[in-house]
Amino acid sequence: MKLRKINKCPICQNRNIKKLATIKNHLKEINSKFDLMKCQNCLHRFISKFPSQTMLNNLYKTDSPLVFGGTDYELDQKKKFITYGFKNIMTQNDHWIFKYVNIDKGKFFEIGPGLCRLYKTFLLKGWTCQGLEPRSFVKLKGIKKNFYQIRNNNDIVSAFDVLEHVGNPIQTLKKINKKMKKNGQIFLTFPHSESFKSKILKEKWSMVVPLSHLHFFSKESTKIMLNKAGFDIVEIEDFSFVEYRRLIRNFFKLPFLFLKDIIKFEFKNIFTRVIEFSLNLLDLINGDQLKVVGRKI
Ligand SMILES: [Zn+2]
Repeated sequence: MKLRKINKCPICQNRNIKKLATIKNHLKEINSKFDLMKCQNCLHRFISKFPSQTMLNNLYKTDSPLVFGGTDYELDQKKKFITYGFKNIMTQNDHWIFKYVNIDKGKFFEIGPGLCRLYKTFLLKGWTCQGLEPRSFVKLKGIKKNFYQIRNNNDIVSAFDVLEHVGNPIQTLKKINKKMKKNGQIFLTFPHSESFKSKILKEKWSMVVPLSHLHFFSKESTKIMLNKAGFDIVEIEDFSFVEYRRLIRNFFKLPFLFLKDIIKFEFKNIFTRVIEFSLNLLDLINGDQLKVVGRKI
């Protein structure tokens, strides 16, 4: 595997970068091969070595375990998608993007539509839709495999959980920018490097998974990246995957679980449960994901 060592911040280009830890992995091929790095200037985090974009593309095309972070739930959804197709996809009319979308109808371009829930929502609202999805099982009207097939003049672009996977996010955003109308809106999400989970757990944070995730963004690195790619920032906000109600429910279950642990002499479990609960609580305060709204200048 050919890898390039990264010796300056991939976003702000500052050379003042610091190693935080060596990243362990259950795959022998990449175990202890990468360090988690932090830029002291813009607080961006990244892994110490990157593969080339061509190699990355090949890993994704072949569903390589080196980039595959899929959960059982995702695998199940994928199977359903293949079996039932478009009809069975649930729409997402309550998606946060609709709080910001400032026109009724136009051209929508989604990068990495995955199971196509948001994509279908836009289609049903009467938008002209295009999607870029390298995985072959995704087949829908307007879904393309290569960037050069995407038509210009899009009003809205979304790339959720995309930029942490690419070698050069600024270059990717510049390419997207060219496909957009002036004043067009861009919507992004990615892992948040300045969240409590990231700062406390460092390389043990669940988002730190080479070679799937190469980047972890701070609000500062997000601003620099978007400005370099020709966008104004409209909004940057952290959010959490933790559900408030579920966390409360878990809180009330804790005493019973503790009792069970004590009876079984599994004291270590008590400790693990307390840590996990506290981290999830902290995540509601400073979430480990960022959502971003930008505008093409
Ligand atoms: Zn930086």
